[in-house]
Amino acid sequence: MSLTITVIGLGQMGGNMALTLKAAGFAVTGSDLFEQARSRLAAQGLPVVAPEELPASDVYLLSLPTSAHVREVIEQSPGLLSLAPKGSVIVDTSTSDPQVSRELAENVIAAGLQWLDAPVSGGPKGAASGKLGMLLGGDERTIERVLPMLEAMSAKRTRVGGPGSGHVVKLANNYLCAAHLLTTAEAVAMAAKAGVEPAACLAGLNSGSGRSAVSEVNFPEWILNERFDSGFTTGLMRKDLRLARDAAEQLGIPLPLLQAVVDAWHGNADHPADSDDFNHIATPILARATQAEGNQ
Ligand code: NAD
Repeated sequence: MSLTITVIGLGQMGGNMALTLKAAGFAVTGSDLFEQARSRLAAQGLPVVAPEELPASDVYLLSLPTSAHVREVIEQSPGLLSLAPKGSVIVDTSTSDPQVSRELAENVIAAGLQWLDAPVSGGPKGAASGKLGMLLGGDERTIERVLPMLEAMSAKRTRVGGPGSGHVVKLANNYLCAAHLLTTAEAVAMAAKAGVEPAACLAGLNSGSGRSAVSEVNFPEWILNERFDSGFTTGLMRKDLRLARDAAEQLGIPLPLLQAVVDAWHGNADHPADSDDFNHIATPILARATQAEGNQ
């Protein structure tokens, strides 16, 4: 039996995921708090409803900005806890606070529903092409139940543990991505100051042990060509870093480099602004290579 799916949150990620699942043959309905997001997706052929009109579905796939929004949708308005049919599965693809996810998962399971955290990598492009990377936190039976949907959305799925574990590893991943943007920009700036073209420097790094997804993807696709159109905002990355820092604090594990990265990303609220593409964090670092001596 094919799954019926309601996608809640039709932004950069959720809108593309909904269209991908519809194209794969699932019966998909989309919903978003904002009329503008609903009409944008309706214009692309997706059946959409207002939050108070959510249909009964096998799966509720959430793609929301923060855990506060996820909690609201599950516990308050429209309140999946009371509204979703027993046995249906709530899949949270947002980058969420793992502690909140674990608490919500308990409540969801106690209400006779199933829980899976499935945060994603690959951006809007990965969502639109069904080539996301997914980290899965939940039990094997729940994953088995929604596997056809996960397969339609992702090129790679990694189960990392029970509820909340996917969100733990997603924060660890985004901490590294945020750090690599700073360190790679510094490395490229140093090489540029020493007379090496950024593209040549990147080619060298990518043939060596200093490479990362940032040097292999972000620099060529969004930074060196100044396109800055990845679809992931600085505000969302700042949110993820604060979540990682808070998780480390709650766990009582000192991580001074994580704190330094959080500080670097929060150093200037205007450059980049929360609404700017997250790759812009590299811009002022790269500019140091062309600044005059004594002006650095
Ligand atoms: P977005 O801001 O583009 O979309 C979020 C959508 O949720 C918006 O359309 C908003 O109107 C809607 N929304 C907010 N509150 C709602 C509610 N109570 N009910 C229904 N809809 C509501 O964000 P995005 O870039 O699509 O990211 C979504 C999540 O995925 C975030 O947690 C983000 O950290 C994560 N993520 C994003 C990317 C990316 O490249 N954009 C990559 C990986 C993970």
